[in-house]
Amino acid sequence: MKMELLVATHNQHKKEEIQQILGNEFTVKSLTDYNIHEEIVEDGDSFNANALIKAKYCFEKTGIPSLGDDSGLVVEALDGRPGIYSARYAGDHDFAKNIEKVLRELEGETNRKAYFITVLCYYDENGTQYFEGKAHGNLLTENKGFKGFGYDPIFVPEGYDMTFAQMEPEDKNKISHRRKAMDLFLDNLKGSNRH
Ligand code: IMP
Repeated sequence: MKMELLVATHNQHKKEEIQQILGNEFTVKSLTDYNIHEEIVEDGDSFNANALIKAKYCFEKTGIPSLGDDSGLVVEALDGRPGIYSARYAGDHDFAKNIEKVLRELEGETNRKAYFITVLCYYDENGTQYFEGKAHGNLLTENKGFKGFGYDPIFVPEGYDMTFAQMEPEDKNKISHRRKAMDLFLDNLKGSNRH
């Protein structure tokens, strides 16, 4: 029987991406599919805490195994900022302003190391499990490329000489933090489905 999974998002694109990765053994549903429109307050103090808040909320509302996620950019020379504040560092989901703030704070800084991180929290009647993916790289001093979203135009992944925003989405998705976390989650689901 197909297993249903509720993903704590209204984002159709995110839902489809997860459906594609999980394949047809699973039916992926979103909050929209369950007609849940209440805002989930993400006031955790870590990526794990925020992913848990989302997954727990969904499971408690529906009783369906649920997946919450939280992602962000962690910059070494900024003591880990913007971190859990990545989406609203300078302005709420204002990608250009958020990038400007990070670049301003990094002015004159030679340590450009940063990583993107995704934490997934899976929540069902047996409890919680966490899966973490990271993409390491370096930050430029100015934007390059127009694809992707968020901090993509200033992030050059390790081993490449172009930003995430210059890469084709399929190529970024093969090496992204989100992809690595999803792969770990998938391996675990398949493993536990075998017995
Ligand atoms: P979310 O938790 O997936 O909504 O991500 C929070 C924020 O982190 C986004 O609004 C972006 O600013 C940043 N972020 C997460 N993943 C990426 C990525 O793959 N590229 C660029 N920025 C990202």
